[in-house]
Amino acid sequence: DATALARTLTAIDSRGYGAYKELHGRYDLGPCRLVVDHVQADPYAPPSLMRLIVDRAEAALPEDLLDDRRGRVATTDFLARAVAAAAARHGEGILTGAPGQEVLERTSVAVTAEGIEARLAVPLPASGRRVRGRQAARLLTEALPRIAESSLRAATLDVEALRRHVTLHRDQEALRDRLAGRGLVAFVGDGAILPRRAGDSDLPLVGGAVPFTSPASLRVRFELPSGRSVQGMGVPDGVTVIVGGGYHGKSTLLRALARGVHPHVEGDGREWVIARADAAALRAEDGRSVAGVDISPFLAGLPSGADTRAFSTTNASGSTSQAASLVEAVDAGASAVLLDEDTSATNMMFRDERMRALVSVEREPITPFVDRVRPLLHERGVSTVLVAGGSAAFLDVADCVIAMDEYVPHDVTARARELAGAAPKATAGGVFGPSRPRRPAPGVLRPAGKRRPAAAKGRATIRFGQESIDLAAQSQLVDAAQTQAVAHALDRLAELLDAPGTGAAEDLGTAIAALCARLDAEGLEALSPHRGHPGHLARPRALEIHAAVNRYRGLRLA
Ligand code: ADP
Ligand code: MG
Repeated sequence: DATALARTLTAIDSRGYGAYKELHGRYDLGPCRLVVDHVQADPYAPPSLMRLIVDRAEAALPEDLLDDRRGRVATTDFLARAVAAAAARHGEGILTGAPGQEVLERTSVAVTAEGIEARLAVPLPASGRRVRGRQAARLLTEALPRIAESSLRAATLDVEALRRHVTLHRDQEALRDRLAGRGLVAFVGDGAILPRRAGDSDLPLVGGAVPFTSPASLRVRFELPSGRSVQGMGVPDGVTVIVGGGYHGKSTLLRALARGVHPHVEGDGREWVIARADAAALRAEDGRSVAGVDISPFLAGLPSGADTRAFSTTNASGSTSQAASLVEAVDAGASAVLLDEDTSATNMMFRDERMRALVSVEREPITPFVDRVRPLLHERGVSTVLVAGGSAAFLDVADCVIAMDEYVPHDVTARARELAGAAPKATAGGVFGPSRPRRPAPGVLRPAGKRRPAAAKGRATIRFGQESIDLAAQSQLVDAAQTQAVAHALDRLAELLDAPGTGAAEDLGTAIAALCARLDAEGLEALSPHRGHPGHLARPRALEIHAAVNRYRGLRLA
């Protein structure tokens, strides 16, 4: 119990740091149980992994909030925020795996058969390399129970706020479920606040933000399970082009759509910006590697004679990187792609008439996206939302044109049609072949010299063996805890693909699908190599797992 734990800690005071190893185990601290799963080896190592567990009866969570997966995700998200707030009040550098603006499936807090469990990373106090026993005793036997007390137990739980949080989440996901049936790629609710406070902040802009208003011709309404009804702009299936002058809010709208694959918390401003879960935001990433991707719809007849139906490079140009990312995303199941002129390779996007006249088709290996956007739709069923303020080229191929004017969207499809002439024509077909399964060569996902599990370094990087995988361009990977989950996924994929005998996945696509199905069935913790405390993970989309494998410089195909 607490007294014994305090006594142990006092007894090891000022001994070598390794004495903390004795802490392993379970303790009853009154308001909660404490489980110490992993003790850091030295003061500079990652903090020690501990769990606080409160009986379900003591937490008294309303059962109806836990009776579906979405309810459990939103409830544990709510509790993770409460734990983070409580830990911040108590200082001590405790890490809680705190959520950001999105509501994601996380391992920070879990509702298990035993109880409600908060997973913490706690730096054990040291002076130099010696144990500070008394301080550790206060931390573990006083601060931690207070955190549990003020975040997980019924007495301090704001049940009304929790219910609102869960209801919002269920409504948002219900809306997402219905997008495809209504022929929509995305929805932006009236009143939404899209701009963010700063380039490095995900919080809503305060002061001067113009709330979103839908153009009448694109207005749709959804009646949601809670009885709530929301109205806003439906972005239709097909090819949608966003035009408008510089600084009128085009990129801000597209970014909000891209982030709309994740649900946002109340007060974020993007609560009702909901996109199809498999929409993929793509950008040019010159310098990335590509392994065996069929980019022949965009690139053929290279001067080098390289085969673009199975194209590999260690250093892609802007245009080839974007073509590869697009084909990869579509093969990985994206039903919509989102592109912004600001972050796209110009020569990949379009070519104007005079350049077409000057450089004959036989000499130009690139077929620009403007010529492929309709085949992509007709042959693969993939919709496009594209920001193009600088060229009229896309007006010819657009089903819908939205003009941003001082942050207000207008439907200018009819006017664009007048300028462009005829409606977009059906295309001949046969541009995009069927997606071809790609199988990594045996062992490439277990690189030589890889001694540690793959690990995230922040949101944008994964250390994998000797390599680092750069995910900076993956704007829909929003949290370092998602990146850590992707890192674990790479190790699990290696097991799936290299499993001896039967049961091995045939190719990357089926391996990643099998892994995701396992996470659906067993929960996100199934990714973790550790039992007990799984670390701080958040659920990534299958698309981001594909993106990481595809950017791994050691990837070779069988
Ligand atoms: P564009 O892509 O059309 O050039 P941006 O989307 O980059 O324009 O927006 C330009 C600036 O306007 C940004 O600083 C952005 O934060 C701000 N902004 C965007 N939408 C709004 C809005 N609805 N209300 C207020 N400011 C906005
Ligand atoms: Mg822009």
